[in-house]
Amino acid sequence: MRIAVLSGKGGTGKTFVSVNLACVADEAVYVDCDVEEPNGHLFLKPEITKKESIGVFVPEVDMSKCTACRKCVDFCQYNALALLKDNLLIFNEVCHSCGGCILFCPEHALTKKEREIGYIEAGKSKKVSTLSGCLHMGEVSGVPIIKKLIDKMPPNDAITVVDCPPGSACVVMESIREADYCVLVAEPTLFGAHNLAMVYELTQLFRKPIGVVLNKCLKGDNPSQAFCKENQIKVLTKIPYDEELAKLNSEGFVAVRASEKYHEIFFELLKQIEQEGLQ
Ligand code: SF4
Ligand code: SF4
Repeated sequence: MRIAVLSGKGGTGKTFVSVNLACVADEAVYVDCDVEEPNGHLFLKPEITKKESIGVFVPEVDMSKCTACRKCVDFCQYNALALLKDNLLIFNEVCHSCGGCILFCPEHALTKKEREIGYIEAGKSKKVSTLSGCLHMGEVSGVPIIKKLIDKMPPNDAITVVDCPPGSACVVMESIREADYCVLVAEPTLFGAHNLAMVYELTQLFRKPIGVVLNKCLKGDNPSQAFCKENQIKVLTKIPYDEELAKLNSEGFVAVRASEKYHEIFFELLKQIEQEGLQ
């Protein structure tokens, strides 16, 4: 079963939920798709067994063939090409690798060149296999790295937990592509409810079954819980704000490995998700 864990913004406890779900399973795969800021490894501390470079192609020009006709410049919708005194300039960082300029060049002056944008690492942390992606600083899109991570996931009879990037942009869409079930993590504030609404809409567009984990709950109003009630969304569990947990997290411990209480909470949560996913 493939479980994607999402939240509308960073800092809601998405990685906390993902890591602990993976660690409470008998055997699981944890996939860190938060490629701009992967931090599941800070808790899991996996032994890295394999590292692979991830690249995209960009155009390369042979100036001996280029006649400065501008056709490629006019074609590129991303302003990744410019002509300066008959010299073709290529801005690799904003190129989206569509390949159009290469096809359009009447002189065949453009060819493909590979450029590294990041890497993925495979590892092992006790019974959890890990796959983690990292986008180099300054790069525009982590989608190619996430695509690779999703393609590397094992068949869906194993418990696989995908730690998605925060928000609801294309990197999140790519991360939930193969998910059987989505867990939305939300904080008990108005802002938290607004972020929850954002990811809820996204999962509905993809017609994914969902449940919500209400995290850092305090006494009093919980706008995220109210949103779930209004929209008839299943609340899987409520995790109270807890100083002991904050301490475990800040020291890089996996809560289910360090605390019987959290082992029980996440054991029940995983059981519920598996039951919900089967319906
Ligand atoms: S490959 Fe596409 S995005 Fe990149 S420079 Fe060529 S036309 Fe522009
Ligand atoms: S389309 Fe080809 S020939 Fe024309 S400016 Fe671009 S690279 Fe040069």
